[in-house]
This record gives sequence, structure tokens and C-alpha cells, in this order.
Amino acid sequence: MSLNHTRSHELDLEARKYLVGGVDSPVRAFRAVGSGPIIAKSGNGGYITDEDGNSYLDFCLSWGVFILGHRFPSVVKAASDALSDGSSFGLTSRFEAELASRIIRAVPGAEKVRFVNSGTEAVMSALRLARGYTGKDYVIKFDGCYHGHSDSLLVNAGSGVSTLNLTSSAGIPAAFTGYTLSIPFNDRKILRETVEKYSGKLAAVVLEPVPANMGVIRPDPEFLKDVIELTHKAGGLVIFDEVITGFRFSEYSAQGHYGLRPDLTTLGKIVGGGFPAAAFCGPAEIMSLLAPEGPVYQAGTLSGNPVAMRAGIATLDELLSGRVYRVLEEKAEKFFALLERSIEGFPVSLSRNGFMFTLFFRKGVPSCYSEVKECDFEAFAAWFRFMLDHGFYVSPSQFETDFLSIAHDDDKLAEMAETTGEFLRGYYGA
Ligand SMILES: *Cc1c(COP(=O)(O)O)cnc(C)c1O
Repeated sequence: MSLNHTRSHELDLEARKYLVGGVDSPVRAFRAVGSGPIIAKSGNGGYITDEDGNSYLDFCLSWGVFILGHRFPSVVKAASDALSDGSSFGLTSRFEAELASRIIRAVPGAEKVRFVNSGTEAVMSALRLARGYTGKDYVIKFDGCYHGHSDSLLVNAGSGVSTLNLTSSAGIPAAFTGYTLSIPFNDRKILRETVEKYSGKLAAVVLEPVPANMGVIRPDPEFLKDVIELTHKAGGLVIFDEVITGFRFSEYSAQGHYGLRPDLTTLGKIVGGGFPAAAFCGPAEIMSLLAPEGPVYQAGTLSGNPVAMRAGIATLDELLSGRVYRVLEEKAEKFFALLERSIEGFPVSLSRNGFMFTLFFRKGVPSCYSEVKECDFEAFAAWFRFMLDHGFYVSPSQFETDFLSIAHDDDKLAEMAETTGEFLRGYYGA
């Protein structure tokens, strides 16, 4: 069985004439999986359809945006209502406070919110705020954690940066990353040594509390506790980058799930309901340092865009009812049990947390970036192509994460687990 990708291929060639690599974000080029990209035409529920008319059960979900599935009715309605009222004003609309109040209700560390347009901006701004608040410069991040593509955070970053095999990026002066330290995730000893060494000079420690840009990594809860305790002792702020994890747990956030309280939190992906919106939030005492109340500058022409805000409100209203997470829990339990069974006996491991998962082509779930790098990337790419050919679109890199939505049908999920088993038996010989 082989799907026809003629039209996607033609459109990719056309796109390459005008766009660099034919894309606007590198991983979309599918370079890591040795196949041409598929060109999206439409999405519906758990599925996306490409320009050749092939439908795929979508485990990428616009990189984790669509926890309700594509075109969820109340979200579509909210966005179309917003469009008919006018798509931007450059003024405050009531919907920003409405979305912010929902975030504050859900995220323990949030008292005040500022909306921006992307996760990159959210983390970049949170970091500026942390530096403004502490008066210090150094920031510690963790190898394989991705915090967007702002200059000072592109040090040992995960996600598409890993896929392209860049440990950093060209075009960034050494001085811009001179205050950024990147250390291994889940290593309590190195964490303690580094934080103590920079005590009194530290603006922030920034982390994905559950890393998902090197595949899903399970945090050692003691490590997370250490991050908060040691950073505070050293005079720095803790920034939880919850752009992926935000609203992906029954307790809404990773901080809720692990019972932890960072100083600042960044959100993105789910909160914009499929539109470009992200946020950072924290205690009023810190947030009030932002302009116009304080000296830390931050702004945006389209920030708090009403279409994104209203799509975000509709999405969070669905999530805050709790029903979605109960459905997802049940789906996830059944699906992951089947997937575990399919991979048994093969050099593959399943890592899962909060309705997201990664199939690592390595014996044993990795606990940090250097272990992820030990994966068999060729085997991953072969699995990706096999799945695509059977109507399952999994995220196109070993460093990325797969997501579940409430629109993923149980029978189809069972078929995905079965198809994975079929691939493994064929690839490794059963
Ligand atoms: C996706 C992501 C970002 C960057 O968000 P963009 O909207 O792509 O700029 C930052 N941090 C984490 C944890 C992410 O997953």
C-alpha cells in the first residue's frame, strides 16, 4: 500500500520557488524523516487531509494546539463571530480580560497575565521581566528544552533545532548567549553545583517542567523541587515554560500536576485555540514591572488579538468544564496499554505524560537530551513513513512529541497501535 502524494510533491516544488526550503518553520520540511512534506488542505476532528485527498489521523495537531481536535464547533463559532466584529483594533477588547481570568483560575502561579503572539515572545519577555525584577543577568536552561527561537535561548535547544543538528544557530553573537548556561535535565547534582556557583548573579532558571521538545521526558519530581528551592536560595526566579504543557493535564498545568509553584509561567499552543496567541503570567508584584506600570518594556501590534482571544476562551471553557480531561484519561489509558503491548520485545520505548507521548527508538525511556540522541533515527524515520502510508500522521522527528485529542476515536487509536506493531515486526523481524 502506498499513498499518492503527487499533488503535495508538486506544491512543495512550487513553494520552494518562493519560500526558503518551501516552509515557514523548518520541521515542516520533513528533512529528518526522509520523505517529502505533505501539504495540508483541511482538518476535521482528529484528522487532517492533504492536497492529494489523503486523510491521516493527526498526532501532531498543529504541534499540540488542537486538544479538542480540528474545527471544534464552539471554537469555530467564537472565531467567526470575532471576525464579523472586526479582526483587530489595536485597542483593548473585553476578551483579553475574559481569557486572562480563565488562565488565572487554572494556573496556580498566575495573578496577572500579558498576552503576546507566540511562545517565543512569551519566554523572551518573561526572561526580560525576570532580569528586570532581579537586576541580575544569568539564566540557566536545560539541554534539549526548547523555549522558542529568541537569541539568548538558542543554546542546546530541542525541537527543530535538534532535527537540523544545530547545537545553536548561526547569526547569534557569542555575547548574546554569554549569560545563558545550559545543563542536563534531571541531573540534581549538576543543577545544585551550577545554581550555587551563580548564586547572587542569577536572574532565572527556565525549564519545560515536562520537556516535550526532545520527545516527552519524565521529570524527576525531586529534581523539579530542587529547581525551585535552589533557584530561590540563589536569588533567582523560576520560569516554567508551559507553552506545551499548559492545559494538557487534568490539573491544567504541569505545576498543578506536580504541586509546584514557579514565579513566572509561559503559555501558548492550546491557549490561542488555533490562532497566534501566547501568554506569560505570574504574581502581580512581579508582573507590575511591565510597561505601562513599570520599566520593563514589552509590546505588540496584534497582541491580545480578539479572534485569538475568543477562540482561546471557547477552548478553555471546554477544558475548564473537566469533561475533556476525563475523556482523554480514558482514551489515553486504553491506547497506551495497546501501544505498550505492540512494542514489547522491540528496542523501542514509550514515554508518556499528560496526553502526550513519544515512541523512542531506544531500549528504555530516556531521561535527558544525551540519551535521546542515542536513539536509532533511521528506524524512527522508517516508522514515520510506514505510519504515514497507513494514514497516521505522527510528528516528523524523534525530538518532537505526539498528542492526543478528544476527537481521536478509540478504534482508530487501537489501529494505530496495531499498525505500529506491524511495522516493528517487519522492520526488526518478528
Ligand atoms: C512551541 C514552544 C515554544 C515556542 O512557541 P512558538 O509559538 O513556536 O514561538 C516555546 N516553548 C515551548 C515549551 C514550546 O513547546
